[in-house]
Amino acid sequence: MKWVEPQIYKIGESRINRQEAARFLEDIGAHDWLVKQPWYTAASLDEANSAEAITEIAGRSCYKSFGLGLNPNITRIRQGSTEYLANVLAKGDGSILEHAVVQWIFRDVSRVFTHELVRHRAGVAISQESLRYVRPTELRMTMVPGSELSRMENLDELGRAMEANFARYQKLSDVTIRDDMRFDEKKAWTSALRRMLPDGIATTIVWSANHRTLRWVLEMRTAPGAEVEMRYVFDKVGEILVRDYPNLYQDFERRPHVDGVGHQWIPRIRSKV
Ligand SMILES: Cc1cc2nc3c(=O)[nH]c(=O)nc-3n(C[C@H](O)[C@H](O)[C@H](O)COP(=O)(O)OP(=O)(O)OC[C@H]3O[C@@H](n4cnc5c(N)ncnc54)[C@H](O)[C@@H]3O)c2cc1C
Repeated sequence: MKWVEPQIYKIGESRINRQEAARFLEDIGAHDWLVKQPWYTAASLDEANSAEAITEIAGRSCYKSFGLGLNPNITRIRQGSTEYLANVLAKGDGSILEHAVVQWIFRDVSRVFTHELVRHRAGVAISQESLRYVRPTELRMTMVPGSELSRMENLDELGRAMEANFARYQKLSDVTIRDDMRFDEKKAWTSALRRMLPDGIATTIVWSANHRTLRWVLEMRTAPGAEVEMRYVFDKVGEILVRDYPNLYQDFERRPHVDGVGHQWIPRIRSKV
């Protein structure tokens, strides 16, 4: 048996199509605004913040607030993404935060973690390693650094119990699931026997979420009452979000938890948007 730590990978994110966004803005007469945008003037898109650009264009499209004169009802426009997005957050116009999405892989998280993660159903896409198809050949158990489990005095005893159970699982699998079986039979028996496997077994989940969802899940799953593994993973997610999308997460404050595992992320401008 092996104890493993949760690993977080940000594998993708929404990217603006500069040519098409510029074409749209030129077509509606927003040239002056366009030529001032960092995502338009940057030498490479890698230097631009696509998610924030997409969000801002979506928001400004609603009122044609790309500059004065485009909508006669508007006499003042907010300059710059920081100020503009702060106002979006303050007003709670969260729907525009749904356009840009981030793709994550959480590896070596437990099924305790994934059971809780999948409860967040708005604005997400999920693909989880299947214990119906995949028959584990070794026992990998998730261990969150600093968690209750990591501090348990009789952790060795727990480990031995897990190993004994897994040895029985392997023995039963070996006699029940034969090489000459059809794949669907193997799958059915793999699924039957997975009932013996522990919730703490390490698994992999691919999870995509838009920024509205990410703000909400970051707040909920780093709250003091949240499960320790959720707090651990989402603290790291929060660090990445603030680093990569400073304007979309500009209002989050980070406070350490008393048990030392992760931090609480608290939105200052507004909670649910
Ligand atoms: C600390 C903590 C303890 C928990 N304990 C338990 C527990 O003991 N038992 C348990 O079963 N669950 C528990 N949960 C899970 C919790 O009840 C929610 O299911 C989970 O947090 C998903 O959040 P959400 O409902 O905001 O849904 P999300 O999918 O994250 O949705 C975000 C928001 O969209 C809106 N929304 C989403 N779907 C709908 C819909 N169908 N209709 C209307 N509006 C919608 C709601 O405003 C919702 O808040 C716990 C969660 C936390 C953070």
